Amino acid sequence: MPIATVNPATGETIKTYDALGEEEIERRLAIAESTFRTYRTTSLDERARLLRRAADLLDEDAEDVAYAMTTEMGKPIKQARAEAAKCAKAMRWYADHAAQLLADEEPDASDVEDSGASRVLVRYRPLGPVLAVMPWNFPLWQVVRFAAPALMAGNVGLLKHASNVPQTALYLEDLFRRAGFPEGCFQTLLIGSREVEGILRDPRIRAATLTGSEPAGRSVASVAGDEVKKTVLELGGSDPYVVMPSADIDRAAKTAVTARVQNAGQSCIAAKRFIVHTDVFDAFAERFTEGMKALKVGDPLEEDTDVGPLSSKQGRHDLEELVVDAVESGATVLCGGVRAEGSGWYYPPTVLTDVTGDMRIHHEEAFGPVATLYRVTDLDEAVAVANDSPFGLSSNVWTRDESEIDRFVRDLEAGGVYVNGMTASHPAFPFGGAKRSGYGRELSGHGMREFCNITTVWHG
Ligand code: NDP
Repeated sequence: MPIATVNPATGETIKTYDALGEEEIERRLAIAESTFRTYRTTSLDERARLLRRAADLLDEDAEDVAYAMTTEMGKPIKQARAEAAKCAKAMRWYADHAAQLLADEEPDASDVEDSGASRVLVRYRPLGPVLAVMPWNFPLWQVVRFAAPALMAGNVGLLKHASNVPQTALYLEDLFRRAGFPEGCFQTLLIGSREVEGILRDPRIRAATLTGSEPAGRSVASVAGDEVKKTVLELGGSDPYVVMPSADIDRAAKTAVTARVQNAGQSCIAAKRFIVHTDVFDAFAERFTEGMKALKVGDPLEEDTDVGPLSSKQGRHDLEELVVDAVESGATVLCGGVRAEGSGWYYPPTVLTDVTGDMRIHHEEAFGPVATLYRVTDLDEAVAVANDSPFGLSSNVWTRDESEIDRFVRDLEAGGVYVNGMTASHPAFPFGGAKRSGYGRELSGHGMREFCNITTVWHG
C-alpha cells in the first residue's frame, strides 16, 4: 500500500510520501536507543512538564489536526475535534497521575520478614524502545493512548502508523518534539507493513503494541514471540448491545445509534450486534431503525454531518460483501443495504435482522455503519448470543434489574461491561479485550505498567 493521503470523500490523492530507506531506519533505531539511556533517568516531574506542554500545543493545533484527520480518513470534523481534545485530556491525566501509578510498592511486612529481608520494594522501571503499529480509525487517539503512558514511564516510542494517515503520523512526531521531548523519544517511521518484522527483530526494540486487524496482530505477535518480546494487542471487536424488558427503550435506541455509527461505524468498540428481548424487540427495532435513517450522511467537513465516508474503497468493499452475503442467505434489511452511486466511499446506515449463524456477518467484524438485530426470549439466550462471537472486546447491557446486571457482569466474555450506556474509553479505566480481540490492557495504571520492567528490590 503506498504511503499517501487519499481523501475518502472524493477518492482524490492529495499527497504521497516516500518510505524511509534502510539507512534512515537504522539511524532512527540508534537514536531511540541512545535517547532511552538518558531519558529513562529523567524525573517524573520533568516528563509531566513535557507532556503537559504537548497537551497545550495539541489544544492550540486542534483545528488543523482535525482537518488533517478528516481529509485523511473521512471522520466527521466535529468528531475529529473531539478526538484531539480527548488526546490532550489523556496526556494531562497521565502527567497528573503517573507518579502515583508508578510509585514503589511495599509487600506486606509479614511476607518481607518471611523472606528474610529487612526491606522489599517493587519498582516499575521502563523497558526501552517500544514499537507501536497503529491503525487509521482514530489516528491521533490510538497513538496517544500508547504514547502518553509510555513516555511517562520512561520508555521511548517508534510509531509505524497506517499507510493512509501519514500527515497525522508526522504531526505526532512534530508535536512531541515541539513540546521539548529529547530527539528520539518519539519517532514516526514512514514505512510499509513489510518493514515491521525486521524492526521488531532488532535487539534495540524491546516490545511492541498493535491495534488493528487480527491478521496484523497475529503477524506481529508471532515475530515478537519468536524474539521473546512483550506485546499488547488490541484487535477487532463485534460488541454485543443487549436490551432487556426493564430498559429505558427510548434511551437505549437513541444511544444504540451513536454506539453503532460513531466514526462511520469504524470503531473496534462500536456496538455491532444488537440483542433484544422479544418483549421489547419491535419497539426497539422501530426506534433504532428510525434513528439510523435520520442520520445525515455526507461531506465530513460539514458541521452537521453524522456519518462520513468509509476510510478506503477496500473497506467499503469488505463491508458491502458482508451485507450481500447476509441478504443472499436470508437476512432482512430494515434500512440501508444499498450504496448510492457517486464519488467518495460512502455506505448508508444499515440495519439487518433475521441474521443466522451461517452468515459471515454473524462472526466477522462489520467495520462500517451496519447493525445486526437479534431477537432473544430470555436472559440465558441473551448471554449465549452475546458470547457467540470469536471477539470479546467490550459489551453493553441495558436493564434495570440488578440480578440481570450481576449475571451479565459474571458471564459476558469481554474486557468491558457497560451498563445502561455505551462503551467509551477513558484514561482512568483499563481498555482491552478477551478472546480474539487481543490481550493486555491499555490506559489506566494497567496499561502503563504493561511496558514496565516490574523489578523486585530485596534488601538483606
Ligand atoms: P490492518 O490491521 O491491516 O492495519 C493496522 C496497522 O497494522 C497498520 O499500521 C498496518 O500498516 C499494519 N499492518 C498490517 N498488516 C501488518 C503485518 N502483517 N505486519 C505488521 N503490520 C501490519 O487494518 P486495515 O486497515 O486493513 O483494516 C482491516 C480490518 O481490521 C478492519 O476492517 C477492521 O475489522 C480491523 N481493524 C480494527 C481496528 C481496531 O481499532 N481494532 C482498527 C483498524 C482495523 P499498513 O497501513 O501499512 O498496511
